[in-house]
Amino acid sequence: MHPDSFLVIGGSGFLGRHIVDALVARGDAVAVFDIVQRYHDTPFYPGDISDQAQVSDAIKKSGATCIIHTASPTAGLQDPALYWKVNVDGTKAVIAAAKENNVPKLVYTSSAGVVFNGQDLIHVDERIPIPEKPLDAYNESKAKAEELVLAANGTDGLLTVALRPAGIFGPGDRQAVPGFAKVLKEGRSHFQIGDNTNLFDWTYVGNVAYAHVLAADKLVPQPPSTTDMVAEALDTALPS
Ligand code: NAD
Repeated sequence: MHPDSFLVIGGSGFLGRHIVDALVARGDAVAVFDIVQRYHDTPFYPGDISDQAQVSDAIKKSGATCIIHTASPTAGLQDPALYWKVNVDGTKAVIAAAKENNVPKLVYTSSAGVVFNGQDLIHVDERIPIPEKPLDAYNESKAKAEELVLAANGTDGLLTVALRPAGIFGPGDRQAVPGFAKVLKEGRSHFQIGDNTNLFDWTYVGNVAYAHVLAADKLVPQPPSTTDMVAEALDTALPS
């Protein structure tokens, strides 16, 4: 059993539930914070991440020492204000609530879409810059939230990390495969855009969940390097 106690924000969702399952499977203490309750087998705290007091209350009651924040409205909505409220203001509130309660670890689910500018991206990694013109309001808000989370790393005792999954598939998916099935069912599959050679990254949801667990486990303060220790010893020993 891992020493951390986890609060999975968005834990009623597709990915969130797989993260909960992965943590429960190894015997960890897990609670869920979400606006909707879909499961009744895990301690559940209802609330909206844009309300810092509600997040703070759930942290206190669950005794969380690691937050995994995977909540977001689904992609593709025509509602920029909602994306900003939940992803940007909500993530700010999560960071503030974590600090308020001395939570040492925060893992954030970003999205590969934050670096997509409409052009093909082949063999890119996290060094590629965020495009100046975001693809849409969802990706703009995810990029801003990721920036906030990474900027909070190492401040007020909080360690943070952000992951950028591409398309996620697997059991419990309510968006991707059901969306394809709907297109087929409605007979809207007689048209083809492009020459059928375009590629898109997909990752199995269990693997994305596992990546979150590994990221959480790796969030430990680094011991000072030998060079730092020598410099500190010299500072103390030598007269200034
Ligand atoms: P999902 O809709 O199944 O889960 C999101 C959960 O967040 C839901 O349970 C929802 O109720 C909750 N939520 C939404 N607004 C909230 C709020 N204001 N306060 C508290 N909870 C709130 O979505 P998912 O597919 O599991 O996505 C999880 C995360 O992964 C999201 O951050 C999404 O941006 C990211 N992501 C998803 C994909 C994908 O293909 N599904 C790809 C890349 C990134």
